[in-house]
Amino acid sequence: MSRAYNFCAGPATLPEAVLKQAREEMLDWRGSGMSVMEMSHRSDEFVEIAETAERDFRDLAGVSDDYAVLFMQGGASSQFATIPLNLLGEKAGADYVNTGIWSKKAIAEASRYGEVNVVASGADSNFTSIPDQSTWNTRADAAYLHYTPNETIGGVEFDFIPETGDVPLVADFSSSILSRPLDVSRFGLIYAGAQKNIGPSGLVVVVVRKDLLGKARDITPTMMNYQVIADNGSMYNTPATYSWYLAGLVFQWLKTQGGVEGMGQLNERKARKLYDFIDRCDFYANPIEARCRSWMNVPFTLADDALNGAFLKGADERGLLNLKGHRSVGGMRASIYNALPEAGVDALIDYMANFAEERG
Ligand SMILES: *Cc1c(COP(=O)(O)O)cnc(C)c1O
Repeated sequence: MSRAYNFCAGPATLPEAVLKQAREEMLDWRGSGMSVMEMSHRSDEFVEIAETAERDFRDLAGVSDDYAVLFMQGGASSQFATIPLNLLGEKAGADYVNTGIWSKKAIAEASRYGEVNVVASGADSNFTSIPDQSTWNTRADAAYLHYTPNETIGGVEFDFIPETGDVPLVADFSSSILSRPLDVSRFGLIYAGAQKNIGPSGLVVVVVRKDLLGKARDITPTMMNYQVIADNGSMYNTPATYSWYLAGLVFQWLKTQGGVEGMGQLNERKARKLYDFIDRCDFYANPIEARCRSWMNVPFTLADDALNGAFLKGADERGLLNLKGHRSVGGMRASIYNALPEAGVDALIDYMANFAEERG
């Protein structure tokens, strides 16, 4: 068996230690005589798995008792509707920042439920930068302000947390959750689809300040009502048990790696190496303004697009997989999440240098 370095944007690579543990426990979870997949979600065993995962996540992310942590389904995209349905309340609308493709999707969906005010757009810079907050056209009566801290496709990441006063701050951390320390107390709600830094796809972790619960519109589907999900410990219906379990294994692994502090140092180092190389080598380019370059998703282009196919083929042969950029952007993209080891970044840089020398 050989494991490749998988640079996929999502579903993304998982820590090898986690996959091995899952394999160990696959047929018989700790003497229970069954797989986690086969357990009742109401069993003592699964409740312990679920509670441990939540506790570990709270420890890692620094989430206080003022917040509920929900393990929901439908991925991050389902939250694009769930958020306005729960948080608009009596307010007419909400503020949104548009920094790229995921912001746009959140805006389009929220627009179906309320009036969306786009306070700032990265369009002027072709989404290669984050508009300075002093230029934002925010409203004091907005139900909340939504933004996307890391744009997974464009590779642009906020280098600050927006200041919103009494307006709750809502953020889609799908591709950067647990990648570095974060002051959760600044937020009203944080959500993250699991398949980048947490575990298998389908699961979405939602951290919501408890005073924001209980405001859902009457038409809100029960399964999307945060209050209902919180009151039932994320088990109003059958939760995604196996994904929840795997997320728990990832949280335990993160704790052995120095938690978010350890990850932050590692991720900064990995990203800096790759950007430094791209900047040094004329053959490659990354268009993002330096201060907002993503630590997680690194898009880059080759000097000659006609060589893209050869670049990808050579990469595949070396076990450097899924480097093709998003169809809307073109070029390449290396996603270097928590579980992508530094050796993988070194191997990629090595290959890029060789390729530029031979074909550049
Ligand atoms: C991947 C991603 C999503 C979509 O996640 P799904 O689970 O596929 O719905 C949303 N927002 C961001 C920032 C993402 O990276």
